[in-house]
Amino acid sequence: MKIICIGRNYAEHAKELNNPLPSKPVFFMKPDTALLPPHNPFFYPSFSSDIHYEVELVMKVSKNGRSIAEKFAHKYYQEIGVGIDFTARDLQTECKQKGLPWEIAKAFDFSAPVGQFLPKSEFKDLNNIDFGLKINDEWRQKGNSKDMIFSFDRIISYVSQFVMLRKGDYIFTGTPEGVGPARINDHFELFIGSHKLLEFNVK
Ligand code: MG
Repeated sequence: MKIICIGRNYAEHAKELNNPLPSKPVFFMKPDTALLPPHNPFFYPSFSSDIHYEVELVMKVSKNGRSIAEKFAHKYYQEIGVGIDFTARDLQTECKQKGLPWEIAKAFDFSAPVGQFLPKSEFKDLNNIDFGLKINDEWRQKGNSKDMIFSFDRIISYVSQFVMLRKGDYIFTGTPEGVGPARINDHFELFIGSHKLLEFNVK
């Protein structure tokens, strides 16, 4: 499986990193080795001193498809979850300045912890899903899918023009504002609404 991540999908987050608002979705990928095995801590990597958390809603792709029309996109995901797009912000800033790809900043091992998924039927309105991240029992990020610049369906349609989607792929849909540094000994808890879908420690 592969992990596709959308960048700059929330206006307030694009602003906090001084990025322009995109007119088309921006995406990058992480390998399956970016998943954090269940019940494992996230070990702070030695190559960065500025690992940021980005809490994001995650779609689980439910069937194979390419060049999917937006009106059919809803048939390609049946579950929504929540995850962290860990980012080595120091390395990413350097890559951006040099015009280099972002892999070392985004695709590293265990950079994509993902929690349990909820069926779409759990939600009254996919364009009104509350989600968030607590660290050490304090809210650090709260978001709602209504603030996404590009909807779930638009993301599926756009990405599948370039990259074939396969059953089991994950698509991270972008982070709201409030990103910040992770620290050793932090306790992360990820929520959709009142459902706690993942927790882990930083070691
Ligand atoms: Mg992100």
